[in-house]
Amino acid sequence: MNNLKIIANWKMNGSKEEVESWINNFSNYVESKDQSQCILCPPSCYLNSAKEIIANNNLTLNLGSQDLDSDQDYPSTGGINGKMLKDLGCDYVLIGHSERRIHFKEDENILSMKLSSAIQNNIKVIYCVGETQEERDKGLAIETLKKQLRVLKDLPFNLISIAYEPVWSIGKGVTPSLNSIDDMHQIIQDELKSNLNTEENIKISYGGSVTKDNAVSIALLNSVDGLLIGGASLNAESFSEIVNNITRQN
Ligand code: PEP
Repeated sequence: MNNLKIIANWKMNGSKEEVESWINNFSNYVESKDQSQCILCPPSCYLNSAKEIIANNNLTLNLGSQDLDSDQDYPSTGGINGKMLKDLGCDYVLIGHSERRIHFKEDENILSMKLSSAIQNNIKVIYCVGETQEERDKGLAIETLKKQLRVLKDLPFNLISIAYEPVWSIGKGVTPSLNSIDDMHQIIQDELKSNLNTEENIKISYGGSVTKDNAVSIALLNSVDGLLIGGASLNAESFSEIVNNITRQN
């Protein structure tokens, strides 16, 4: 499972002190070559201190932001755009996470501007898609994914990967069956090829209630190129265990 990306999404958790001890513990548990497969996404206010610890200790851990703002042509109080993230040493950004789609009303229009801000600054995008329980119950899961992917048309896919995160699974302790993850990843890949004209396979990560008990079996699926982990990434020891269990499968 070389090159499989393991992403830690802390959401609005942690403190400056916890970021420091997490990175120190993680770097004690995980070998340098495997650290480079991981992306830490702490809250934006801790990106700078995370970057300093990573640089001072010569770690290969990557840094990502959980969000960014678009390059508005009007004053934008509180905004952090792609140029600023790059300045902080951030190489990755999550865009389209369901919590932002739902609670911050981020629609395709807003997401499209965020995508431009990231891409113009050469920041690699992890674009999240996934259906809600209601959409799934109504048989609209596939249609939802296709609609969410449409915003990527004509964008440079060398800077984009996808995270399939069924909303009904995130933070709920339930995951789709392995077959269902495989099917949905295949549907996403087919859609990218047929309607968004991608030539090569685009990397697709899975996210939603990944734990140390299910991580390896999900990661072993051929259609899975990474894992996006929320709750189980907060503790350095359990996150490192997941990383080590996966990388030692090689
Ligand atoms: C997430 O926040 O994207 C996520 C997948 O969370 P959890 O792993 O806690 O379900």
